[in-house]
Amino acid sequence: MKRILVNGAGGFIGGHLVKWLRAEGNWVRAVDIKRHDFVEPPADEFILGDLREQKVVRDVVQGIDEVYQLAAHMGGAGYLFTGEHDADVLHNSATINLNTLHSGVRSGVKKFFYSSSACIYPEYNQMDPDNPKCSEESAYPAAPDSEYGWEKLFSERLYMSYMRNYGVQVRIARFHNIFGPEGTWRGGKEKAPAAMCRKVAETPDGGEIEIWGDGKQTRSFLYIDECLEGVRRLMESDFTGPVNIGSDEKVTINRLAEMAMEAAGKKLSVRHIPGPLGVRGRNSDNKLIRAKLGWGPSRPLSEGLAKTYAWISAQVEKTAAVSA
Ligand code: NAD
Repeated sequence: MKRILVNGAGGFIGGHLVKWLRAEGNWVRAVDIKRHDFVEPPADEFILGDLREQKVVRDVVQGIDEVYQLAAHMGGAGYLFTGEHDADVLHNSATINLNTLHSGVRSGVKKFFYSSSACIYPEYNQMDPDNPKCSEESAYPAAPDSEYGWEKLFSERLYMSYMRNYGVQVRIARFHNIFGPEGTWRGGKEKAPAAMCRKVAETPDGGEIEIWGDGKQTRSFLYIDECLEGVRRLMESDFTGPVNIGSDEKVTINRLAEMAMEAAGKKLSVRHIPGPLGVRGRNSDNKLIRAKLGWGPSRPLSEGLAKTYAWISAQVEKTAAVSA
């Protein structure tokens, strides 16, 4: 039985990952600065602690074989692309990664998983919504469009350096827009699929929702179950990465809105308003993951979006019932 540490287990992906790791029979210690907003992840131990503190990290890595490092200072476009949180994003996430590696290596951790992001890809390759380039080697010359992306790129290099210099095993995935139930769906840190589902759920049939920009920007979205399957396959493989874990079903944000309406069985009109947008086009390039792991995400976006819509509309109803 492996002893596993999940950093960021009070968050969306970390909470789901704890469930998977426990179901596979591992012993799991979970850490986060806060409790999970929606569920109690079934960890053997859940420790509330700030991973920016060296003392906290020294303690939580004790007796651990593998670390999944998911803790980060983050949010959706409305949080990361306004520039207002740049110093905290860089400082807090980099400190967590520095502490995790420094103390983890010293206490004998053998393998680290690091969750990087599609936000590391250069802005100059993502200007055309129809032809974004996100193959792994295109990360350099580096030009991410956010400080969040720069920190992820720095930390990828940090993990690779520890692997070279200290002989630990490292696996790095670049996640592309992961979504699903039990994730942030309101408050400013939610991402596009959750925001879209919430807007549709809150609006009566025939009403109107707002979309940032012209809605012609493209993205792809990966449902949580396939994300975790990719993570587990990467960890069991002998491939270090960095490798994209994302869907290659590229859609416009306008199409995403239509899909949320289809999931709800509603017809709404759309009003385009100014807002933070990020790059013009982005899609996961899955050639490398298929070549190295013999597997790639394949489920349709509509399927995951229907499950996510069902969960978010239930949250909207619960909230309305409480405030009524
Ligand atoms: P999330 O915000 O739900 O989870 C991150 C967790 O880290 C939060 O629970 C937060 O409280 C915790 N955390 C932050 N600072 C901390 C600190 N100082 N000490 C302890 N815990 C702290 O985000 P998520 O969507 O679950 O993402 C998990 C990881 O995957 C992150 O590293 C993120 O950058 C990366 N990622 C996610 C996506 C996505 O679409 N969700 C895409 C690319 C990369």
